[in-house]
Amino acid sequence: MTRRPLRAVALAGAALLVLATTAPVHAAPALQSRGGGCFSPATVGAAGRAAPGARTRDADTRSMSASEQRAVEQRTRDLLAARGKPGTGPFAAVTVPVYVHDMVDTAGNGTVTSQQVSDQIAVLNATYAGTESSQAGNSGFSFSLAGFNTVVNDAWHQDKQSATYRKQTRQGGKNALNIWLVDFSYLGIATFPWDYRKSPGTDGIRVQWDSLPGGHITHYNLGKTATHEAGHWFGLYHTFQGGCTTTNDEVSDTPAQSGPTTGCPSGADTCTLPGLDPIHNYMDYSYDDCYNQFTPGQVNRMQSMWSAYRA
Ligand SMILES: [Zn+2]
Repeated sequence: MTRRPLRAVALAGAALLVLATTAPVHAAPALQSRGGGCFSPATVGAAGRAAPGARTRDADTRSMSASEQRAVEQRTRDLLAARGKPGTGPFAAVTVPVYVHDMVDTAGNGTVTSQQVSDQIAVLNATYAGTESSQAGNSGFSFSLAGFNTVVNDAWHQDKQSATYRKQTRQGGKNALNIWLVDFSYLGIATFPWDYRKSPGTDGIRVQWDSLPGGHITHYNLGKTATHEAGHWFGLYHTFQGGCTTTNDEVSDTPAQSGPTTGCPSGADTCTLPGLDPIHNYMDYSYDDCYNQFTPGQVNRMQSMWSAYRA
């Protein structure tokens, strides 16, 4: 966004999210985030998270309790077993159709160029192909722009009536990634694949429009917010889900970390469990230029989730 959002706008957005069964914990008004549902209010906005006026990432999916998390794992196993897919083995490459909805206001705020959209698709393709690190996994997912439309609506631009505008504008089936570009107090918000069956009309990701490549949000303008949010859409949790536990994010090769990362603190190690904090992982909250990988374990999880919920 070109200007800081009004606090009232941010609060209204949070209220709407609660109604939509998303339960983000709102960051301090001056903060911005793309995070997931595992923050406590005391964690969000803690001193030192970000300089005043800067954006960070915070609660960006509905909250998942430990019991809900276990239920999702069991349901996923059952679905894969029913389809004769154990969740491992060869995975045929998938091209995901992407529909981009640019929600602008009547003054033109929120406008992105077709070049920015093209560049965003390129970032998705690079990050999901594992091109940014020798340790990154190749997900087998690629992305193809299927539609780019602009919607002029002052309220929708500010992510108000989000369930309504998503239902009215969403395109494609369960395999289609819809990206709504809006101006809100977050960097992004995502839905999970296991929620598609109940809420197909709102499936997709909402992304701060100025986080696209060429945008103006310091530290968050390389297009990696869409990569992070799409990770949730594919079924990934944050790398710090569950904190310092062995269950953690249900992925064995992402070391546990006690909480989200801000910036790019080399050598961070916040749990006594093995491994340094995965600060370069797209599912942490690090700066865009710190991100460089999904792990092979995350790739396996995304592929299993795809087979269970989006194939
Ligand atoms: Zn997130």
